[in-house]
Amino acid sequence: MEKTDYLKDLGKCVLCGSCKAFCPTYDEEGTEAMGARGRLALLRGLSAGQLSPTPLLNDRIFSCLLCEACSDLCPSGVDIMEDIYKGRSLLKQSDRKRRLLRILTKLFIRNPALSFRISHILQNILFPYLSKKRFVPANFRLPDSPFRNGHSVYKVMKKKGRVAVFTGCSTNFLYPHLATSLVNILLKSGYEVIVPSGEVCCGAPLRALGLEDEAKELAKKNMRIFGRLKVEAVLSPCPTCILTIKKEYPKMIGSGIKNATDVISFLLEKLEILQLSLLGKRFPTAAYHDPCHLLYGLGVKNQARELLNKIGVSVIEKEGNGCCGFGGPFSLSFREISGNLLQKQAERYLATGADAVVTACPGCMMQLSKAIKDMPVFHIVELIEEAYCGSDEV
Ligand code: SF4
Ligand code: SF4
Repeated sequence: MEKTDYLKDLGKCVLCGSCKAFCPTYDEEGTEAMGARGRLALLRGLSAGQLSPTPLLNDRIFSCLLCEACSDLCPSGVDIMEDIYKGRSLLKQSDRKRRLLRILTKLFIRNPALSFRISHILQNILFPYLSKKRFVPANFRLPDSPFRNGHSVYKVMKKKGRVAVFTGCSTNFLYPHLATSLVNILLKSGYEVIVPSGEVCCGAPLRALGLEDEAKELAKKNMRIFGRLKVEAVLSPCPTCILTIKKEYPKMIGSGIKNATDVISFLLEKLEILQLSLLGKRFPTAAYHDPCHLLYGLGVKNQARELLNKIGVSVIEKEGNGCCGFGGPFSLSFREISGNLLQKQAERYLATGADAVVTACPGCMMQLSKAIKDMPVFHIVELIEEAYCGSDEV
C-alpha cells in the first residue's frame, strides 16, 4: 500500500469502536490500544509524525493476532488488516524485541530442509525446552521426514477431477500425516492430486513480522508454481495458507491463486455421503474449534459442523467465541496473553464433555494440544480419512 493510500485509509476511521466487538486481545486486556481502533489511532499518530516508535507502541501494533475478527465489522470500510501489516513493515527497523524472531524465521524459510534436519538431530534437547516454555505440546516429536518429496502426482483409475495440494510449512514439517490424510481422501473420491515441487512458505509469518518485501518474494514464487497448474482447486490443511495465497497475494503482488479453496468447503461439496461411517461409535460427540482465518477470513463456519455430522459425529458447541491464542509469531512474542487465551478456550472445550476436540488448522491443533490433555485433539481431515477411507487408526 502506498503512503497516500495508507493515510487515506487510516483517515476513514470514525472511531465508532465496532471493530472491538470480537477482538481477543481487547477482550483479554481491556485497554484501548489492545483493540483495532486504538491500534489504528497509534498508526495515524505515527504516520502524521505526532508519535515515534517506542517498545510499548511497537508491542501494541505487534500484539494484534491478525485473526481478522474485526475485518468485516468496519462501517467505514477501513482495511484494518492491511493497515496493521503496513504499520508493522514501517516499524520493523525500530522493533528490537522481535529482531531475533525475524532472523530465525528468515533462516528457517530460506533453508527449510536444513533447518528441519538440524531440529531433528537436536530434538531431544530442543523440544523438552520448547515444551517447558509452552511453545509446543508436551512430548512433541518431529516426524521422521517432511511430507513433500519433490514433484509428486498421485494418480487414480477413474479420474473425477484434478487438484493440487499446497502443503504449508506446519503441515509439511510438523504434521505431515495431515497432508497424507488429505491426499488419501482425495484419491478415494477420484481426484488426481498434484503436489508440485518448489512450494515455499506462503509468507504469512514474514508478513506478520513486518517483512513485507521478503513475503512478496515468496508470494511471487508460489504464484509461478501454483498459478499455472491446470487444476480444479488448490487445497491445504492450513486455512492461513489458503487465506494468504487467495486473498492476501492480490494485495501484496497484484494477483492471487484464485482457485485456492478451503478443505472443508471442498470436501463438503465433493464427497459422497459418509453417514455409514463407524467413526461416530468411537467419537459420538466433538467440540469444534473454529480457526480464526477459516471463520473470519474465509467465512467457513456451518460447513465444518455439517461435515462432522455427515461422518456421524455430533457437534457440541462450547460457550462463547474465541481464538486459541496461537497467531503464529504472536504466541512466541506474547506468551502470557497467548497462554491466557488458550487456557480460557481449553476450559470451555473441557466443559462440553465432548469425546474429542476437532479443528481445521495445524496451528490451532498444536496450540490446543498444549492445554487439552484429557481429550484427543484432531484436525478434521484425520477424522474424515478414518470415516471415508476406513483407516484403522485415528
Ligand atoms: S485482527 Fe484480531 S486481534 Fe487484531 S485488532 Fe482485529 S480482532 Fe483484534
Ligand atoms: S470499526 Fe472502522 S470506523 Fe469504527 S473504530 Fe473500527 S476502524 Fe474505526
